[in-house]
Amino acid sequence: MSEYKDSLLVLRTYKLGEADRILSCISKQHGKVRVVAKGARKSKSKFGGRVEPFTEVFASIWKGRGELDTLRQAEVVSLNAELHEELDKLIKASTVVEIVDKVSFDGQDLSALYELATRALRTLSVQDSPNFLSVFALRVLSLEGLAPQLDGCGLCGSPNVVALDYLHSYGLCRKHVTAPIPSEVVEMMRAVLVGRTGAVLAMKDTVLSREFETVVMRYFEQSLSMKLASLSLHRGGSEIF
Ligand SMILES: [Zn+2]
Repeated sequence: MSEYKDSLLVLRTYKLGEADRILSCISKQHGKVRVVAKGARKSKSKFGGRVEPFTEVFASIWKGRGELDTLRQAEVVSLNAELHEELDKLIKASTVVEIVDKVSFDGQDLSALYELATRALRTLSVQDSPNFLSVFALRVLSLEGLAPQLDGCGLCGSPNVVALDYLHSYGLCRKHVTAPIPSEVVEMMRAVLVGRTGAVLAMKDTVLSREFETVVMRYFEQSLSMKLASLSLHRGGSEIF
């Protein structure tokens, strides 16, 4: 067996046998990685609490023959323990790892997604924002090449964008839509897409944040043809059943 070292972000964990844990991770240099942490569920495990979801570790890994590699050592880079302590942060962090899991595939270079996700989780662990998920989702859309073009209407070129066409990833003006979205929301999306994420994360208008999130997450789910399970928890649980 050969050994490699890489930074891992733990997305999910699964029980294996009596005492082991499988970690589903993305790595900085080796794409998506699944490793077995042997004995991780024993109370005196050498991995301690270091192999939980949202944790970033620098790891030594034995390359296995099949799908599963074996974790040999793990040093904590960011524990992000705060994300397990507050329900709102826990749900947002769960949405982040669900998104990361769903947009990442075996054999892909995930270094940019790795940077984005680990930075987002570290930010969330120290400071929550009502715009956190929307900002993260827009940044993922940018990475995927699916961010909406908001410079002008995709159909007629008018600069007054009031809605989004997720099929073509462009904005639309008032002429083509019946239900426009607030201009403040379009401005917030523009700000994130040109890199002014800090300003949007610092905004405190909760009503506007809710509208922003509704628009962004609907666009996100439609563009990527996915339904986010953790998002229904975030919306208040009414859609769980
Ligand atoms: Zn138009």
